[in-house]
Amino acid sequence: MKWSVAGTAVKLYSDPSCKNEVGTKATDARTVYVKGVTKGGKATVTVKSNTDDNKRASAVFTVVPHAFEYTASSNTITATCTLDDCPLKRGDTRYSERLSIIAPSKPVYTGAAFPATLAMSHSYSEFAEFTSLPAIKYQKKDGETWGAATQTVPVEPGTYRASVTLKPASGSAITGSVEYEIAKARLLEWSVKQVGVLTYTGKPQTPKVTTAVKSVNKQPVTFTYSRTYDGPYSEAVPSVTNVSECGGFFCFKVSAPFHEDAIGLFRINMQKAKAPAVVVPTLKSMTYDPHTTLADIPLTGGWMGDGKHRAHRGPNRLSRGAGGRRRQLRLHRREGRRQPQRQRSRVRRGEDRQHQRPSPPEHQRLDLRRRSRRACAEE
Ligand SMILES: [Zn+2]
Repeated sequence: MKWSVAGTAVKLYSDPSCKNEVGTKATDARTVYVKGVTKGGKATVTVKSNTDDNKRASAVFTVVPHAFEYTASSNTITATCTLDDCPLKRGDTRYSERLSIIAPSKPVYTGAAFPATLAMSHSYSEFAEFTSLPAIKYQKKDGETWGAATQTVPVEPGTYRASVTLKPASGSAITGSVEYEIAKARLLEWSVKQVGVLTYTGKPQTPKVTTAVKSVNKQPVTFTYSRTYDGPYSEAVPSVTNVSECGGFFCFKVSAPFHEDAIGLFRINMQKAKAPAVVVPTLKSMTYDPHTTLADIPLTGGWMGDGKHRAHRGPNRLSRGAGGRRRQLRLHRREGRRQPQRQRSRVRRGEDRQHQRPSPPEHQRLDLRRRSRRACAEE
């Protein structure tokens, strides 16, 4: 069979989806599909014998358009054909097509646009009498009021209504719409930490802090601070005299446009005031002299004797009692460790001897001290 059709834009196909075109050459196709006939238009299809062009038949097809009626229910517009003799009517069920406007799924702010999309109940691109569909329009809700409808696809967090409005050749316009919300993004990996440690001074001090935050979708971030969770928050870190006045923590808030605020705590590190370092002078050795006072003895680190305690023959602060003696001997022992083995052991023996002895009378005590000093000098 050889198929042909009259009309410039009209073509024949061997499949219902009109992809495999039937040309003018002989084909086995017994059924052909016509595409390109305008609604209400006509097409003349002719079929001839493969071998004899005189064996032919023609038929004229008139494309009768559906008579659509439109209804809208929330996000779906339904077009129903009202023709009683509509060839696509199935029993009592009239032929219908549906167009739905679909919201994006759980959008969260990223800086990108979140468009609504259109979906149809059928696979071809037309809907009812429309060969092309109007653009989706968006409105943003401000309080209880909807803003102006524009084609700008929403980016920022907020509540939006997306709608599509069709204007049939007859009848009134029909609109399907859907509402959705773009949520604020969450800030991730934020932190505030104190830099260094404050030292208590009795006066208010402001802790220095370092801040960090990740995932802000290229928005500027602001850190604000408060003594209490409920605020008020300000960009300046509060001052603190004593950590106990605020429980050892300050509150902070991390803010960025289109993001949820994040609130956290950071610890205030304050240490007690440090006592100044004191280096006590060491008196390594002295030579007995009844006319010498403590004020005459040179001391290290700027220390000096007060001159009241005269180093006379009787007991005084440097020599009195067993404790003073032991202290002096310990000094010797410490020095002895740096000495060769032989000398060190000699000092140790001398020490032991003195410990074993009963406390000597006063005049002997001075002798012992002299002997110790001699040992020290020898070393
Ligand atoms: Zn119909």
